[in-house]
Amino acid sequence: MSNLEGKVAVITGGSSGIGLATAKRFVNEGAYVFITGRRQSELDNAKAEIGKNVTTVQGDVTNLADLDQLYATVKAEKGVVDIVVANAGFIEHAQIFDLSEAHYDKTMDINVKGVVFTVQKALPLMTRGGSIVVVSSIINVKGVPAHGTYAAAKAGVRALVRVWTQELKDRRIRVNTLSPGATETPIIRGQFDSDEASDAAKTMFASITPLGRLGLPEELAAAAYFLASDESSYITGIDLPVDGGLAQV
Ligand code: NAP
Repeated sequence: MSNLEGKVAVITGGSSGIGLATAKRFVNEGAYVFITGRRQSELDNAKAEIGKNVTTVQGDVTNLADLDQLYATVKAEKGVVDIVVANAGFIEHAQIFDLSEAHYDKTMDINVKGVVFTVQKALPLMTRGGSIVVVSSIINVKGVPAHGTYAAAKAGVRALVRVWTQELKDRRIRVNTLSPGATETPIIRGQFDSDEASDAAKTMFASITPLGRLGLPEELAAAAYFLASDESSYITGIDLPVDGGLAQV
């Protein structure tokens, strides 16, 4: 069985980029998806794009009451969760010389705390096994200036996945990380002050990537589908890089 017919998926940050592409792919494969994000307008647009079998739940992954609301909605509508894609993420550039406490807290809160409690609070509803996909980054094995806190957060969730693989195996829940390389989503523009600077960064990333270009959200969604579905039934605990070779050579 390779599709997601009858499966219920929760995708945080499902209103944009990789999360939105993953939601579309899962629905095309037969799943029902719950997508989250802070901006209701983006959720509304995403819902229209996905078209069917989707519920939007506005909320911040760093706010535990919002996560409770998310899973209360899932419980009321479907009663069960089969797949969690802990995808919501945040990056801003800061070097060790002058990074602020606010930068540190925000980066860790969204990328680590958000993942931890997204997963923990899903578990009571994961009553028939399932698959958890944590979106990390190839930065979890790279040293890129100004990416220190983000890299620590993304390496942190990769470490958590190793532990959760053991802790959840008896419940027949597989846990894996998916690590994008540079991927064409709004998160890149958000790191720069101008379109020119963002475009220059994309050109630079393409030049150091063996496949010579950035990844597309749909290419990450294909890997998320693989990890979420029975196609990967004998895979747990891994970190799957989808990066055009960027961190592999
Ligand atoms: P994106 O297009 O900017 O999407 C990010 C999504 O996360 C949006 O839906 C955003 O919605 C949501 N989000 C952000 N903070 C949130 C919060 N506190 N609570 C709830 N939702 C939140 O970025 P993307 O590239 O698809 O990123 C997806 C994941 O891939 C992230 O974990 C990112 O770190 C990782 N990644 C991306 C790249 C890349 O090059 N694109 C590379 C490596 C790893 P709201 O803003 O409305 O909340």
